[in-house]
Amino acid sequence: MLLTITATPPPGAEWPATDLGFLLHKNPDRVQAFDVTYGKAHVFYPAAGPQECTAALLLEVDPIALVRGRGRNAPDFALSQYVNDRPYAASSLLASALGNVFRTALRGRCDQRPDLAATALPLRVEVPALICREPQLAVELFEPLGWTVAAEPVALDPAFPEWGASRYTSLTLTGTLRLSEALSHLFVLLAALDGAKHYWVASDEVDKLVRAGEGWLGAHPLRGMIARRYLARRQPLVREALARLAEVDDVEPEVLDNAVGFDGEPVQESAPDAVPAKERKLSLATARREAVVETLHEAEASRVLDLGCGEGALLRDLLKDKAFTEVVGIDVSARALQIAARKLHVDRLPDRVKARLTLRQGALTYTDARLAGYDAAVLMEVIEHVDAHRLPALEHAVFRAAHPRAVVVTTPNVEYNARYETLEAGRFRHSDHRFEWTRAEFRAWAERVAAAHGYDVRFKPVGEVDPELGPSTQLALFTLAKSPTNENLTNENLTNENLTNDNPKEASADV
Ligand code: SAH
Repeated sequence: MLLTITATPPPGAEWPATDLGFLLHKNPDRVQAFDVTYGKAHVFYPAAGPQECTAALLLEVDPIALVRGRGRNAPDFALSQYVNDRPYAASSLLASALGNVFRTALRGRCDQRPDLAATALPLRVEVPALICREPQLAVELFEPLGWTVAAEPVALDPAFPEWGASRYTSLTLTGTLRLSEALSHLFVLLAALDGAKHYWVASDEVDKLVRAGEGWLGAHPLRGMIARRYLARRQPLVREALARLAEVDDVEPEVLDNAVGFDGEPVQESAPDAVPAKERKLSLATARREAVVETLHEAEASRVLDLGCGEGALLRDLLKDKAFTEVVGIDVSARALQIAARKLHVDRLPDRVKARLTLRQGALTYTDARLAGYDAAVLMEVIEHVDAHRLPALEHAVFRAAHPRAVVVTTPNVEYNARYETLEAGRFRHSDHRFEWTRAEFRAWAERVAAAHGYDVRFKPVGEVDPELGPSTQLALFTLAKSPTNENLTNENLTNENLTNDNPKEASADV
């Protein structure tokens, strides 16, 4: 199985084509071999000049390893009788090898040439023998992603044209894309083209699919089919993947690159305005961020903590808006913070934008004196990731110790899950969710927390509102109560006993 990737810098470009080697983290001067699950992958460069550079990934499948299998990823016994159909499996084996060998490039990381990693480059990808009986399918999968696709059936035997076409397609993709995008398309779609035979599927494949598909798969017209085929039609996994893609995915990469304005002036207007109304409706994630930003404006916040900031989607919106003079992103996951830094192009931000941003690792279940004194803290889709028995520690750290003037919390409304047709009854929207609450449960929690810590609380619906089941996302805005009792609720004199103080304060109301 062979795949080649060719970079051809446009005329006048200031980078030689051989910089492809930096992006792939593979030196063009060397032939390298890597052990992969079912064989050996070789990377070499058939051409490496300043105008054109081609990297080749050659996968040598070891049939013995394929039959014997190893570890939990091994094909099961019943399937092993089919493994002599090696070419069939080769697409997904190639996808898997690509994911291993070019893992860093797939994530878009390149410390030597970060600018180039973030730039769309003229690329050509060739897969001379792709397992795909219907070339048209390859066209339909790759074309919506901005590729020009040439997919030709390969004759079974050119000497006997009457024998017709083989099961192979010769595929050539050309387009101007970031290398990481190109690799993520290949990683997902070569496996998907292999259909039901991507047989080592384990539940972490959902994570891989959601991560690799981020930014494009959620909006792909054939996303359902791609997820089904990638996940070998394991329905529960497919449902989870589709629900998560609907949740996480936005229409945004290009829109944001333009609208964020990090290359020049930060723009005032919010990016989603550039997205057609129809697409906006698709993205609950966008609606949620808009609602949070609007709520922060309502609270007249300018110094804001984004607690559990994840990969930084909200931070990006906050930085675009000059009303927010200081923006601090905290997350327990170093990896999420790295991705946030990359997505925000922290290294390329103009100084005055960079000066407003801090990214810091931290666990919200521990108090942190550095979080005190802010106007507002946001917990967007975070509390449901915290074990219920640890929530009191988070409440203490945020509402008591950090004690901002306002706190915005969003969380799924579990009642609405019935409207997600792809989500099996009783399952949460994300496998990492420890709980999902009804409207009544969220309200009870929020009112108890508000009362215990001297806040008033109001609730807002986010996303589509079902007349019976309520909104998809629920949002609560906590603001420090202006009652005289609050003056006594300072950080110093609050003790742990107050954590369970259930005294109802003022009545809460919908906004
Ligand atoms: N707010 C982001 C991310 C939500 S996912 C958004 O809406 O897009 C939940 C995030 O909370 C993850 O990034 C996870 O790493 C983080 N998280 C979960 N528990 C945490 C804890 N105890 N302390 C800090 N961050 C936590």
